[in-house]
Amino acid sequence: MTVSSVRPAYKRVLLKISGESFCREGESGISMAELSSVAEQIRDVVKNGLQLAIVCGGGNILRGKQFADISQQIVPSTAHYMGMLATVINGLALQDALESVGVATRLQSAIRMEGVAEPFIRRRCLRHLEKGRVVILAAGTGSPFVTTDTAAALRAREIDADVVLKGTKVDGVYSEDPMKNPHAIRYSDISFREVLDQNLQVMDAQAMHHCMEHNIDIIVFNYKKVGNIARAVAGERIGTRVSTEGRAS
Ligand code: UDP
Repeated sequence: MTVSSVRPAYKRVLLKISGESFCREGESGISMAELSSVAEQIRDVVKNGLQLAIVCGGGNILRGKQFADISQQIVPSTAHYMGMLATVINGLALQDALESVGVATRLQSAIRMEGVAEPFIRRRCLRHLEKGRVVILAAGTGSPFVTTDTAAALRAREIDADVVLKGTKVDGVYSEDPMKNPHAIRYSDISFREVLDQNLQVMDAQAMHHCMEHNIDIIVFNYKKVGNIARAVAGERIGTRVSTEGRAS
């Protein structure tokens, strides 16, 4: 598939990219080389009119629960706010990476911080999307004790996204961790119920419940393979589709 041939199968998509997209494998912090590669893929998929909102994670800098567990002086809610601020740092980096390849963007934050980002306002977010701007949604939900997976699920519903694309570093949802068991089976389709019952690692349980309740499909795929975001957006069967119907579909 050439870049100019990417015909989106969806009108409006929510892409969740975790903090690990912002750094090299096994490292932390921000690698602009890694980010540029993601930014170029994104540029290629918004050329043909796709409306794209991106929820970015912050795990390359700090995850609230992990940090609270190791830092006795930091109370858990503070650690989670720190995690949310980490997603704003990533959002700023992603914004400049996208603008440097010619993509118009807006950064909206769930925690108000005038001078850095617009506040998240649903109607304004929709207006940006309609105008062809990629909207980066930072600071998660603005509330502690959840992850950006939950933020992605909630925002997808709020903006009426057709699908959640969950970019990961593996090729989809497996019966077991494919890093530990090379014989693990990859599902091409699976239901929300199976994911929850088998405790498969897709998104956190709150996010899964929300998508299940509101019938928002999730496509889990390896975004590190160049061209995969375009394939997912074009409706090609890559990775794993998590839906109400699952394998019966
Ligand atoms: N976070 C939060 N509320 C939210 C979203 C995120 O408190 O609505 C905090 C939480 O501590 C989380 C951190 O921000 O660990 C970074 O987000 P996440 O772990 O989801 O990043 P990812 O794993 O996607 O890189």
